[in-house]
Amino acid sequence: MKSNPNSVEELYTGVVENNKVILSQAITLIESTLPEDMIKGEKLLEKCLPHTGDSIRIGITGVPGSGKSTFIETLGEIITNDYKLAVLAIDPSSKKTKGSILGDKTRMKNIAINPNAFIRPSPSGKILGGVAAKTREVLLLCEAAGYKCIIVETVGVGQSETSVYEMVDFFLLLMLSGAGDELQGIKKGILEMADLIAINKADGDNKEKSKLTKTQINQVLHFFPESDSGIDRQVHLCSALLNTGIKEIWDEVRSHHRKTKKSGFYDNLRSDQQLLWMEEYIDRFLSSSFYEHNLVANKLEDIRQQVKNGHMSPQKGARMLINS
Ligand code: GDP
Repeated sequence: MKSNPNSVEELYTGVVENNKVILSQAITLIESTLPEDMIKGEKLLEKCLPHTGDSIRIGITGVPGSGKSTFIETLGEIITNDYKLAVLAIDPSSKKTKGSILGDKTRMKNIAINPNAFIRPSPSGKILGGVAAKTREVLLLCEAAGYKCIIVETVGVGQSETSVYEMVDFFLLLMLSGAGDELQGIKKGILEMADLIAINKADGDNKEKSKLTKTQINQVLHFFPESDSGIDRQVHLCSALLNTGIKEIWDEVRSHHRKTKKSGFYDNLRSDQQLLWMEEYIDRFLSSSFYEHNLVANKLEDIRQQVKNGHMSPQKGARMLINS
């Protein structure tokens, strides 16, 4: 991979002027793992930081097929009447098949050509520190470019939801009717994180079933502890395809934003998220400096083999490496 030839200053100017080409290049720089890029990226982010923050950050999750891209297209049309919108899609592409669950290029065609919107898929989960390791930085770059509403989309099948939850103000879970049976494999934890649960495809023959599902989910929520914001979790019916119920969901997001701003929850949450982010960085730095250390690098392969063959316990292996 080649490093970006533009200077930090040039990238910065391009980003804050919302030059989409430069913004894309800046994101590629931020996502790069080349040491010189990482230093440049850090400088760029520092410069951009004063232009970030005052925004609405929404996390959207749901199993493949629940209608996320259709939903974001429809919601995006509404949002872009008020705000410039950036959509970041985290795609935990399967390492085994090298396939992409989200199939980025063909998704969300309208958003891709909307002048008030910017869409960017995040690379697969190869980045050290998990799928969302760089998403937060990318989010900040988008804010610096003037996108005051950011949607971070993730596929509700892996570990990425928690990371996304920790970087947004509002977490939205898309579900389908028929949730009574096993809640569609959605983990209870994810349901608990949600500020709003939207039962999508509540149209045609599915309408009555969706209403029933809404009742069932409300019953389940009844037993959950209060949400962190103190605002009741909402369950909505919608059809992303027919554009029903979507405007109401956006109104709910904005109302949540107003209420949490007023109560101070918004600012506290953002501060907590900053600290959490620093801690993640410490973990990342420690981990990479550990693996890069000569003594560790020299012994690593040998100890890995011994652990693999069952000649050494994983705990002993880890301790030997750390002690070295
Ligand atoms: P994703 O995998 O979660 O991004 O789901 P998609 O947005 O690609 O939607 C999967 C399929 O469901 C597509 O064929 C959509 O046309 C369809 N779909 C999405 N939303 C709705 C809806 O509200 N009603 C109906 N009937 N179909 C929908």
